[in-house]
Amino acid sequence: MHPDTQAIHTGRSIDPATGALVPPIHLATTFERGEDGTYPSGYIYGRSGNPNRNALELALATLEQGAAAAVFGSGSAATFALLQALATGDHVIAPQNVYFGVQQMLSQIFQPWGLQYTLVDTTDVAALSTALRPNTRLILIETPSNPQLAITDIGAVADIAHQAGAYLACDNTIASPVLQTPLALGADFVIHATTKYLAGHSDVIGGAVIAKAVNPLFEQLRLIQSVGGAVPSPFDCWLTLRGLQTLPLRVRAQSQSALAIAQWLNQHPAIEQVLYPGLPTHPGHGIAQGQMSGGFGGLLSVQIKAGEAEALAVAAKVQLFTRATSFGGPHSTLEHRASMEAPGTRTPANLLRLSIGLEHIDDLVADLDQALATL
Ligand SMILES: *Cc1c(COP(=O)(O)O)cnc(C)c1O
Repeated sequence: MHPDTQAIHTGRSIDPATGALVPPIHLATTFERGEDGTYPSGYIYGRSGNPNRNALELALATLEQGAAAAVFGSGSAATFALLQALATGDHVIAPQNVYFGVQQMLSQIFQPWGLQYTLVDTTDVAALSTALRPNTRLILIETPSNPQLAITDIGAVADIAHQAGAYLACDNTIASPVLQTPLALGADFVIHATTKYLAGHSDVIGGAVIAKAVNPLFEQLRLIQSVGGAVPSPFDCWLTLRGLQTLPLRVRAQSQSALAIAQWLNQHPAIEQVLYPGLPTHPGHGIAQGQMSGGFGGLLSVQIKAGEAEALAVAAKVQLFTRATSFGGPHSTLEHRASMEAPGTRTPANLLRLSIGLEHIDDLVADLDQALATL
C-alpha cells in the first residue's frame, strides 16, 4: 500500500460496536479480566496500553517501515527513554548542533548518571569515526537538523555504527516519513517529536521511537515506557492519529512553498545565507537528494546580513507569520532561535528559523518582503 493510503487507513478501523468511521476515544484507565484471570481484550491498565495508543503506534511503525513503535508524552521523553535504555558506562555520539533539549539531557542528566557522550559534526563522516570508543553503543543523528538544517548521510553513518557494534538512531522530525525513511537506509531507530509535522496542527505534544527490529534496546525502552509511565493520553494519541491522515498532503505542500521561499530569500540583498537542503548551494544538497524524496521539508533558516538586532527587527515586523517556537503546523511561524535556546548555543545570533505553513505562498512572500524592507 502507498504511504498516502496507509496514513489514512492504518490504525483506523471501523468501530465494530457502532460502525463509526472515526475511532472512539477510550478514556478507560482499566480493563476487565476474564473469570480465569486473563485479559481477553489484551489490555490491562492505561499506563501499559490503550486502544488509541496502540493504534497510533501501529500507524507510526507502518509509515516508518519499522517493526514496532513506542509513543511518549513528548518528543523529548522519547529521546530520553532511548538514552535511559542504555547502561551506565555506555558511550553515545550525538551531533554538535543536536536539538538543544537533547544537549541539556546529555550534559545535565545522563552524564551525571554515568553515560558518556561526545558531540561531533556528524555531517563529517571521518570526524564521526574518530569519536568512536570501544563502549560506543548509540550514534544519534538529526537530519535535516534543527535549526541549521545540516544533512548527515544516514547510510554511511549506519555502516560506521554497525561496524562498531553500535545502534544508529535518527531523529526524523523535520523530514517526516513522507520525505525520508531512515530505517530503510540502515538506521535502527527513528525518533519523532510528533508535536511537529506528524500531529501537524500545533495542538498536541508527543513523541515516538520506532524500531526496525524488536532488539534488546527496544525491549528495555518498552519497559521504560510502561514502568516509567511518560505516556501520552488517549486524546493526545487520537489527535495525532487524526493529524496523520493529511501528513503526506501537508508535508508536500509545505516543502513546495519552502523551496520557493528559500529561492526567493536567496536572492534578497538583506540575507547573508539561506539554510535549506533543497538549495543547490547547501553543502548537504547532494546527500539530501539521495536520501530524501518528494521535497526537502517545510523548515528553513536564514541569517540576516546586518546582524542580530536586525534579525530581531525583522521578527518584530512580520504580520502573517507568527513569532513563536516549534514548527510543523498549518500556520507559518518564525523564531529568533538563539534567544530561545540555552546559553552557550552554537546557533548563530543572526539566525531566524521559519516554519512554512499552508497559507498561500504569495501572502507569505509579501509578508517577508515587507518585514525585510525595513532593513
Ligand atoms: C521539537 C523537537 C524535539 C522535542 O520534542 P518535544 O515534543 O518538544 O519534546 C526533539 N527533536 C527535534 C528535532 C525537535 O524539533
